[in-house]
Amino acid sequence: MPKYTEIEHSSHPHVLVLESAQEPYQCDGCKEMGFGPCFKCDECNFNLHEECAMPQSSAFHPFFCKCDFRFYENAPRPGFRDRICDACGKDVQGFVYQCLHKYAHDLHPCCMKLQRTLIGNGVTLHLRNSVATKCLKCGCKEVSINVKGWSYESSCGQYSYHVACVNDLILENWRRDYFDRNNTALQIMVPNQDIVQQTGGSSSKKKLSKYWKMAKVVLELIISAILGDPTTLIATLIQSLLSN
Ligand SMILES: [Zn+2]
Ligand SMILES: [Zn+2]
Ligand SMILES: [Zn+2]
Ligand SMILES: [Zn+2]
Ligand SMILES: [Zn+2]
Repeated sequence: MPKYTEIEHSSHPHVLVLESAQEPYQCDGCKEMGFGPCFKCDECNFNLHEECAMPQSSAFHPFFCKCDFRFYENAPRPGFRDRICDACGKDVQGFVYQCLHKYAHDLHPCCMKLQRTLIGNGVTLHLRNSVATKCLKCGCKEVSINVKGWSYESSCGQYSYHVACVNDLILENWRRDYFDRNNTALQIMVPNQDIVQQTGGSSSKKKLSKYWKMAKVVLELIISAILGDPTTLIATLIQSLLSN
């Protein structure tokens, strides 16, 4: 895809300019939060994800090999149930890819475009629609009661994080950093009971600390992928997030 730095979009009367957002923003297309690159009208504080600003009219996703997705500014078939994104489990409130099936699948534009594989820091992570390991943030395999949700899982299968949980984590930490610079307590670093047992409990402190070191490396890789183009502020956020 050619790289555009200025576009006109049917949803807004002014030209939108590609910028690297200095703080998290809400996308006026899909209504989800965004980090990093953004098509913006400064005058109106109007923001669109790159994925929302330049969607494909139709798309396929390997997790739904029988589904033919179309892009819509408003989901055309409400009524069966509330529209929920199959990837992150959050509501669909605006721009969406929806398949043509009667009981349609929905994907936020950013969720549709998640990278399948992340490689860096000596680890390889795969995007999965079902995982063997519980998410290290929420301690569950499913993102909610009704939705499995997608995760990044390490190739060794020991580490996994829901994409939705990493998004929340970035936001929580940004808010905490923004409103209370002294409070650096991080929920993420409290291992859940299962993981402590798996890795040998308190008798094996060394093993446990090695495990969490690796868990941070994995998390860092996912955060970098989600942020896309980390700005200085966001880079600092990653540092504070991973320094504990
Ligand atoms: Zn969006
Ligand atoms: Zn405007
Ligand atoms: Zn379908
Ligand atoms: Zn989603
Ligand atoms: Zn989770």
